[in-house]
Amino acid sequence: MNAPVEQPLTFHPPSHDGGLARRLRAAVRGDVLFDRASRGRYATDASIYQVMPVGVLVPASDDDVRAAFEICGELGVPMLARGAGSSQCGQTVGACLVVDHTKHLNRVLDYDAHAQTVVVEPGVVLDALNAWLRPHGVWFPVDVSTSAQATLGGMAGNNSCGSRSIAYGNMVHNVEAIDAMLADGTDARFGPESAMAASAPRERQLVAGLRAIGERERDEIAEKVPRVLRRVGGYNIDVFNPQSERPYTRDGSVNYAHLLVGSEGTLAWTRRLTLAVAPLPRHRTLGVVNFPSLYRAMEYTRYIVTLGPTAVELVDRTMIDLARGNPAFRPVIDGALIGEPEAVLLVEFAGEDEGAVRRKLHDLATMLNDLGLRDSVVKMTDAAAQKSLWDVRKAGLNIMMSMKGDGKPVSFIEDCAVPLAHLADYVERLTQVFEKHGTRGTWYAHASVGTLHVRPILDMRRDGAQKMRAIAEEASAIVREYKGAYSGEHGDGLVRSEWVAWQFGPRLARAFADIKALFDPRGLMNPGKIVDPPRMDDRTLFRYPPGHRTLPVATALDWSAWNVQSDPVADVVTAPGTGGDPANGFAKAAEMCNNNGHCRKFDAGTMCPSFRVTRDEMHLTRGRANTLRLALSGHFGDAASAAEVRESLDLCVSCKGCKRECPTGVDMARMKIEFQHQWQKAHGLTRRERLIADLPRWAPWASRLSWLANLRNRWSWLARLGERELGLSARRKLPDWRFDAFGSRDMPTATIEDADVVLFVDTFTRYFEPENARAALRVLGAAGYRVAVAQARDGEALCCGRTYLTAGLVDEARSHARRMIAALAPAVARGIAIVGLEPSCLLSLRDEYLVMGLGDDAKRLAERGMLIEEFLAREQALGRLALPLRALPQSRALLHGHCHQKAFDVMGPTVAVLRLVPNLAVDVVESSCCGMAGSFGYEAAHVDVSLAMAELSLLPAVRNADASTLIVADGTSCRHQIADGAAREAIHVIRVLERALVTEARTPDSPHA
Ligand SMILES: Cc1cc2nc3c(=O)[nH]c(=O)nc-3n(C[C@H](O)[C@H](O)[C@H](O)COP(=O)(O)OP(=O)(O)OC[C@H]3O[C@@H](n4cnc5c(N)ncnc54)[C@H](O)[C@@H]3O)c2cc1C
Ligand code: SF4
Ligand code: SF4
Repeated sequence: MNAPVEQPLTFHPPSHDGGLARRLRAAVRGDVLFDRASRGRYATDASIYQVMPVGVLVPASDDDVRAAFEICGELGVPMLARGAGSSQCGQTVGACLVVDHTKHLNRVLDYDAHAQTVVVEPGVVLDALNAWLRPHGVWFPVDVSTSAQATLGGMAGNNSCGSRSIAYGNMVHNVEAIDAMLADGTDARFGPESAMAASAPRERQLVAGLRAIGERERDEIAEKVPRVLRRVGGYNIDVFNPQSERPYTRDGSVNYAHLLVGSEGTLAWTRRLTLAVAPLPRHRTLGVVNFPSLYRAMEYTRYIVTLGPTAVELVDRTMIDLARGNPAFRPVIDGALIGEPEAVLLVEFAGEDEGAVRRKLHDLATMLNDLGLRDSVVKMTDAAAQKSLWDVRKAGLNIMMSMKGDGKPVSFIEDCAVPLAHLADYVERLTQVFEKHGTRGTWYAHASVGTLHVRPILDMRRDGAQKMRAIAEEASAIVREYKGAYSGEHGDGLVRSEWVAWQFGPRLARAFADIKALFDPRGLMNPGKIVDPPRMDDRTLFRYPPGHRTLPVATALDWSAWNVQSDPVADVVTAPGTGGDPANGFAKAAEMCNNNGHCRKFDAGTMCPSFRVTRDEMHLTRGRANTLRLALSGHFGDAASAAEVRESLDLCVSCKGCKRECPTGVDMARMKIEFQHQWQKAHGLTRRERLIADLPRWAPWASRLSWLANLRNRWSWLARLGERELGLSARRKLPDWRFDAFGSRDMPTATIEDADVVLFVDTFTRYFEPENARAALRVLGAAGYRVAVAQARDGEALCCGRTYLTAGLVDEARSHARRMIAALAPAVARGIAIVGLEPSCLLSLRDEYLVMGLGDDAKRLAERGMLIEEFLAREQALGRLALPLRALPQSRALLHGHCHQKAFDVMGPTVAVLRLVPNLAVDVVESSCCGMAGSFGYEAAHVDVSLAMAELSLLPAVRNADASTLIVADGTSCRHQIADGAAREAIHVIRVLERALVTEARTPDSPHA
């Protein structure tokens, strides 16, 4: 155990609460969160900082916020507005009452087609707004990379800018009015000057004060405010003497809302935003220009922009390589490359006339030819292909953050903007600065407007702070030389507010202080940002402050792959297990979460079903990773098994959505197993947990006595007793035990030694749905394969051990895994496929088995283990599958993928196999987790959340399917959820094939042709 170290100052509990929590609870309808875990979850954003808030309010309405302003005003407690918390500069961390308006204040309030404006609450997410606007043929075009989670309130707070800012400008160019609440709780509307004359006295007084400051500083504004489009530092004082390359208003008049844009919540709280929308371009084309060097890419950007593109975005070599390392991105990026370029520019043209945007693409290729880069452009006109490539570009930063080790790319000069004429030289000189300080950076993003993203790799636990300052000083000197903006996209926050005076000079810095004093004389709105900032390198504000420690943990799983260090210059990663993590890599795995908020997804993909239902930070992958990180660094005491973590993990359904979709690879399902292991060691298991874990042990008996075991589903008093004693919901029917479980009489005659393929029959299939295993034998047999069924050497049924893993009983799971490995060793030795039916069971061979200390045998088994549809699809692709299938009475199948199928990218083969059935159209439900997740949905405490998860998309899609549609789901629990929630029978894909078999001419044991 490490010697206890003094906790960082920023984590001291608030001493000036003054009954704040109590008073808030009495006054508001929303959630008031003052426990240490909740506060810890709001102590970070996507920056390097961490400051414990006083407490958190999740308001149910504006009135809650008003009440909070009043109470906080009386007690002198500062307030901090927060959207998705995806800010990179520390804007949303502070010792304040944090107000998270994403859960309830997220409505689109009004759309005016004539005026082309939309009115929204601050918690509306950009993608949600654009989905809402699409039917009207318009969109809100400030397309930030974080569009799936960034809120309009946060975007206005940061004056955010999208990839297409060259065509549409930044937030400030697209906000028409802001209905705000001032620090004293009064409402005020800010908009065009002409509309302000009729406003209330407090607003008029503010406007008069602001105008006086603006007039006073007119010359200074012209002198000091950079004349670039991308300038988001300080307050937009140039509303009084416009300097932006793109005017803020059409006629040059003042719009007072623009002063609030980019003010980072330091002036007022935004209640509503009136936004200008733009027509959706009907046609887009994309040219990917491949460059032999980064310098050339930057040099040619200024020529490319003369063609009038809507975006010119850079992706450099490192980013290309990192993207290729991601299985989802690799084919997309490969399709955009010609040879091995050092950099590519994504050049987009958009407009109403298809011919015109295609011609622009042609002009681009001609221009590059003329510039000496022959055949360097990949032309993309297909919308889906363009979207896939944009998705890779949008994921750029996240891809970069997947770097393991303590050195991470750090955001502090990541968005300096320089005029295009200097872009190439700027990149070259800054690269030299990085080299001088023993690091390197990866370049990407908005070349069109001279805002390149670059993050030098620094170790913020060691010498990162010193290097950060040194690099910042040298970078700022270069930016000044080129008359650029030091903050061109991400704002000031904690990392750059110190540089506001440097950028704008002492006189304008004083003017900013005057503006702040007009709005917020007591300094209660997000203090320390823009005005009166702390030093950027004040390490007490860091996520890893001096004295940071990690608790030693004897882990059950192997986390050594995370326990590494990396050398940014040599690009070398040390051997697994050498990273110096006292928690054996478990802590470093949790620290992979950089808080970017990508898991706050609401539509596509799987991640994160529990958050989609509750919208609570504690039920988000990020919230869980933060809770775990805090626990492992001793914030909840000296044990890794903190109750706070258990609570946060309670609704995690281990769907592995994050494993695939979190850009830095946070794998919460695996962390839950490890945590559960630590927990049960310290606290034991509940009776229900033990019973379910041991299911493989007692299943044979339950099957033999199925008439007795199934009484629970018939006698309601037994169900109620089960709920009281075991916590299994009486509202749920449990799976029926089958007397005709899969057994010796089903065994084919082939043995592993002479079979073509081995079938692994898992516990659930064996005892609950043996017809699926029988169908598998029939289908494989009909296709001519000799099939053996895997059996343990002791003759007992095999089990993958999943139920034990769920309970954290890793030792028991390991002994089951060893039996599997031993039983299947001959198949592995012969190199034949081992197929399974239940995704969560079979795929554990390719996942958890590899981190259970089972050595190379487990790796070899993983190479052979596949779902039956993967096997059939592979055989089909190799031209070896001869499966006699006929059309079914049904012409449509609706397929719901098990989460683990999606996590392991097995949906393709599943669809391919279904499509073998003649005339069968296959639709895949765009669904997250079904919500049943093993025993989760059967538990009384979870049944409502479980059904709510299913109602997000799965159950409505099933209900909407007509009665003749086949509902297909490979997961046992998914099928039960569908039966319970939509009263429809879903079947395993293998049974669809079985139904479609033409004849059973070949027997299961006949030789494979
Ligand atoms: C991977 C990644 C990519 C990014 N890409 C881009 C990009 O392409 N372009 C870009 O501009 N930014 C980008 N960002 C930064 C960030 O995502 C954006 O600034 C985003 O708009 C912030 O939205 P949010 O809802 O997370 O706001 P938050 O981070 O929660 O808040 C932002 C600021 O607004 C203030 N605020 C929030 N709500 C209110 C309110 N109701 N009233 C007053 N003030 C309020 C907050 O106090 C804070 O100062 C990126 C960040 C990450 C991690
Ligand atoms: S868990 Fe992953 S997706 Fe979520 S914030 Fe952390 S790094 Fe981003
Ligand atoms: S495993 Fe699923 S439920 Fe758990 S955190 Fe990841 S995405 Fe969310």
